[in-house]
Amino acid sequence: MEKVIETQVLIVGAGSTGLAIARELSRYKVDVTVVEKNMDVCFGEVKGSHGLIYSSVGLSGANSLVLKSIITPDLPPSKLFHRDGLKTKLSLEGFNTFPAVAGELDIGFRMVRRVVLGKDEDDFKALQILEEVCKSMDFEPERLDQEAIQELEPHINKNMTRGLTQCNDVAYVYPWEYGIALAENAMDNGVKMMLLSEVLGIKPLDGGFVVYTGRGPIKTQFIINAAGPYADKIAKMAGVCDFGLTYTRSQMLITDKRLGGIVNHTTCVVFRPGISKLVRPTLSGNIEILCGKYYPATDPEDTSTRMEWTDENIAGAKDLFPEISKGDIINSFTGVRVFNTRDPEEHLIEVSNGNPNFLNAVTRLPGLALTPALAKYVVGLLGNQGLELIEKTGFNPRSRKRIPKISELPNEERKKVIAQDPRYGHIVCRCEEVSEGEIVEAIRRGARTVAGVKYRTRAGMGRCQRGFCGPRVLEILARELDIPMTEVTQMGGLSRVLLYRSNELLGSGRGLE
Ligand SMILES: Cc1cc2nc3c(=O)[nH]c(=O)nc-3n(C[C@H](O)[C@H](O)[C@H](O)COP(=O)(O)OP(=O)(O)OC[C@H]3O[C@@H](n4cnc5c(N)ncnc54)[C@H](O)[C@@H]3O)c2cc1C
Repeated sequence: MEKVIETQVLIVGAGSTGLAIARELSRYKVDVTVVEKNMDVCFGEVKGSHGLIYSSVGLSGANSLVLKSIITPDLPPSKLFHRDGLKTKLSLEGFNTFPAVAGELDIGFRMVRRVVLGKDEDDFKALQILEEVCKSMDFEPERLDQEAIQELEPHINKNMTRGLTQCNDVAYVYPWEYGIALAENAMDNGVKMMLLSEVLGIKPLDGGFVVYTGRGPIKTQFIINAAGPYADKIAKMAGVCDFGLTYTRSQMLITDKRLGGIVNHTTCVVFRPGISKLVRPTLSGNIEILCGKYYPATDPEDTSTRMEWTDENIAGAKDLFPEISKGDIINSFTGVRVFNTRDPEEHLIEVSNGNPNFLNAVTRLPGLALTPALAKYVVGLLGNQGLELIEKTGFNPRSRKRIPKISELPNEERKKVIAQDPRYGHIVCRCEEVSEGEIVEAIRRGARTVAGVKYRTRAGMGRCQRGFCGPRVLEILARELDIPMTEVTQMGGLSRVLLYRSNELLGSGRGLE
């Protein structure tokens, strides 16, 4: 008979939502298991995220509300902001605690300034609404004239003549680094992680469930549905789905680091319905461009990119910073955002109406800043539903340390690290200066794919986009995992990087077809 695993809380989905909840639960004497269908954590929506940490109260939050005021012009700006909404409360609490959490997890984090600009009468009207929304949030952003704009952003298009700004309104993280760090810290504190374990069916029991996964059945008292774009399917399996999901997608571009210094802040033109024009430096010194439309999507996996969207992005970026050109682009990717149909403006974080042991944790944009507060909120809901929450004495919030990045260490420390492990002296990715030691450590910590190594080390994220280091990373993965190179995948599943060894190809005659 098939062995049944038992746990108290089963979290479906190892994205930023599920992993933040797992880490929070690991403070308590509770048996927690995370099941994830992919080969690694953070291969879902979170991998396409910008990693902007902002709250719904502030210039960034107000800027997204302006979209709404243009869509519903009869709604006065002062009525746009809902102080008591869950989105407002959790994002504000999460934003305020994020610096401490980033410190505990030893991840990259930088507070920055948001600059919102306008160049014509339409923009100025939208800026006025934006200012009114900010006032309804009890703060006044600083006004900018052309001279002040030039001072903040010397490379900006000179036609931008008015603007608003707020210091420390937004912070940058690498979203996947945040998720991976949450997972590592949660596992250090006792959470069980089951990868390649797709949930296929759920049978409700009296006071719990049996969850059928690709790796066998799991008996659990509670289910937390953190399956992001698939949360409706998980709820349906449990027979408790009373919401739908919709998706929008947009394409982003990343430029070469040599443009670094052209853009100083998170700089945007005041938002329009369904269109964003935002350019910003990333933590790594590249520039990210999100200047285009949000297109409706039906398939959350459709992250294909299109040339016309690239052109739309470049045109928008040039409107802000004329020096940016197509030749500076090193990568483009598409992300799919999720909204629930019950209230697309809100997150769906609740005990399900259909079963008191089934909880939904489905976020919308911005879904990162709130996670420390969301996790506490969900643990509170579990407590209300009867889960006994006794704090562990040994919980260590700081167990996780980042992989030493040899290129960033001072000379003396670099020498010490290389003396202990000479592989740190061997640079594999020349663009991002990633050493073999860092790649081996990433594999030791759970990377099983080329993308897993990239997210943990940045190998392959530079100008050449794996042109030089790709084959070497493949070799190291195969060697460390003791598998043939043809078994190494980009992101698991069928995404094998090499299809045949060249002598097999020649022997089969395929190369001659
Ligand atoms: C382009 C883009 C930009 C964004 N920018 C920002 C930003 O700047 N700031 C911000 O705060 N938010 C941003 N967001 C939103 C934020 O990224 C999301 O709210 C957040 O990542 C959602 O995380 P999640 O864990 O809920 O979902 P996901 O990351 O999708 O995780 C869900 C997980 O569930 C797994 N899963 C699904 N079905 C099953 C199953 N049957 N069995 C097992 N596992 C399953 C998936 O594989 C996945 O790993 C952005 C989103 C996008 C798309």
